[in-house]
Amino acid sequence: MVLYISIDGVRPDAIEQAHTPTFDALMNEGSYSLAARSVMPSITLPCHMSIFHSVPPERHNVLTNVFTPMVRPVPGLIEVLAQADKRAASFFSWEPLRDLSRPSSLSLSHFSAYENDPDYSDLRVVNKALTHLEANEFDFTFLYLGTADEVGHLSGWMSQAYLKQVEHIDSLIGKVMETLPAGARVLIHSDHGGHERMHGTAKDEDMLIPWILWGEGVKQNQELKQDINLLDSAPTLCHLLGIPAAKLWEGRVIQEALS
Ligand SMILES: [Zn+2]
Repeated sequence: MVLYISIDGVRPDAIEQAHTPTFDALMNEGSYSLAARSVMPSITLPCHMSIFHSVPPERHNVLTNVFTPMVRPVPGLIEVLAQADKRAASFFSWEPLRDLSRPSSLSLSHFSAYENDPDYSDLRVVNKALTHLEANEFDFTFLYLGTADEVGHLSGWMSQAYLKQVEHIDSLIGKVMETLPAGARVLIHSDHGGHERMHGTAKDEDMLIPWILWGEGVKQNQELKQDINLLDSAPTLCHLLGIPAAKLWEGRVIQEALS
């Protein structure tokens, strides 16, 4: 099974500054970059559309947090998995993400709204996902953790409250890792960073993201020096599941991470 965890708004230097034993262990045991890049505009829905469709925003044309269907459709990761008879599940707390896949392609979709409580909202989504992860029900699971972004907007990126939230997310991912069945592979990265109380610009603070791949067949304790961006995630996730990338996808499989 393959798990992709999106950690909204988590900057790579936050992982370095905060106390993050889970991220540290995953980097030690896996391959990672602390200088992967987002896409412009560096905001959540355009970024996630690029993650799931492996094309830049100028191609999928979702340029704000309001979804519009593509005029020239590009197959998304979830549709490609469905075509290959893989079972996929999605767990998220920000409703616009329901448009990342087309109807009838997911085996399970769980949305519970952000509750203005950063300690509760991600925990609730994680707890929902844990039961299904433990039972190994799906070939692919998407888990979205959104509270670092919420706290960033409220208190500022790299503020004490933001770093504390990154530590909370680290502990939640620790719970997930304890639950995963043997042979699992995990990709974790954020969609964008942030500065002051915003993001969306081409500044490095907004564009640089951590990108961590872990599990069977992934090289251990390796810092990836090659350029990695959001478009590379869908081809790499498909590769882990033994499925070729869609022809229209523009990213690449991060082979350097694989043994
Ligand atoms: Zn975001």
